Amino acid sequence: MIKKYTRYYTWAEWVTDGNFENTNAHCKVATGIKIFPAFNCSKTKNLALYRIMEDKNPQTSFFEVSGGQNSAVKIEQMVLHGKKPGPVVWLTAGIHGDESGCVRVVREVIKRLKNGKLRCGTVYAFPLLNYSGSINNSRLIPKSQEDLNRLFPGNKDGSLGERIAHAVFSKITESNPVVVLDIHDDIDANWIKSVSYVLVDPKSGFRSSGAYKATNKLAEKTGLMVVREEKTKNNEWKKTLSGSLILNNIPSMTIELGNTNTSNKVNVNLGITSVWNALASLGIVEPKQLNLKSFIKNKFSGKPLVYSDRPRIKMNGVIKFLIKPGDVVKRGQIIAEISNKSRKTRGTAVKAMNNGILLGHANQNVAHPGFKTFSFAVVKNSSTIL
Ligand SMILES: [Zn+2]
Repeated sequence: MIKKYTRYYTWAEWVTDGNFENTNAHCKVATGIKIFPAFNCSKTKNLALYRIMEDKNPQTSFFEVSGGQNSAVKIEQMVLHGKKPGPVVWLTAGIHGDESGCVRVVREVIKRLKNGKLRCGTVYAFPLLNYSGSINNSRLIPKSQEDLNRLFPGNKDGSLGERIAHAVFSKITESNPVVVLDIHDDIDANWIKSVSYVLVDPKSGFRSSGAYKATNKLAEKTGLMVVREEKTKNNEWKKTLSGSLILNNIPSMTIELGNTNTSNKVNVNLGITSVWNALASLGIVEPKQLNLKSFIKNKFSGKPLVYSDRPRIKMNGVIKFLIKPGDVVKRGQIIAEISNKSRKTRGTAVKAMNNGILLGHANQNVAHPGFKTFSFAVVKNSSTIL
């Protein structure tokens, strides 16, 4: 069966090739011309696909995570050693299967490092952590419907997602890295115009304060806008990859590229540059000049910014956005209007709750109460977060 076609592509290779704009379109193209057979990771024929990739790149290997009642999944791992010993760094991407730009960033960085650019140390990568999610364009792990980035540090005897999280977390922590850069496309699959930024998890306790400080320092070196998360009641951040690593005193940050579901070249370049800047600040690669038009820095001259998803919408209606991602807003500024669907009454104003920068907004124009509509980086007093 597999010999029928001259060349098979894995999804990961589609994300790697140079001619793409929209990975959804590619999925259709790939299945349409039967390069990409109906995919099921548990079937043995797909192992041949993996083998092609292994032959192509000797630094790439796959390890298997047993899925309990579900079938096992394979996770691609890359490693590159520099000319001399030095710091260990991890790059991770594709933890949400519907995000593809981040996968591209990791592959590009590894490609560039392979050309003798890694002066010292070791760079490991998990370029596509949720492989089965990526071929189904699913944020979650399709077989178990779990969000992998809410399951760390995982459990070796738990659900499929918890087992993957445990295996990934163990591999990373065993190598004793100086930093883990977890790269994403955006915070929500329906938000397509968001800007790029680095998200740093909340400060939590004495044990992780060293990792928290180091993360903040390195986040600034990426050149991207740095946004800190505040503690939440549900402590959801503690179960993210970056959050669980910081709690174990390993510096880690989340790089959000923006533009979910499209491998936007500008944002991919921003991602590559920001990762490169972080590596350069550790002395393991040569620094590069920034040459990126839409590089969004902190427009509040370095004042600490905190993530906020407020205001939430309180009524049903049609929403008209009056600001765009990257805009600076003032507290009290009207940022959107909501009118009822008959449009007989004048729109109700939605106002900004703080001074800040709009990171992104929902990509739909029908609002309802509690609707998560905005994400902001807002200005806060530095003493509360640093
Ligand atoms: Zn994500």
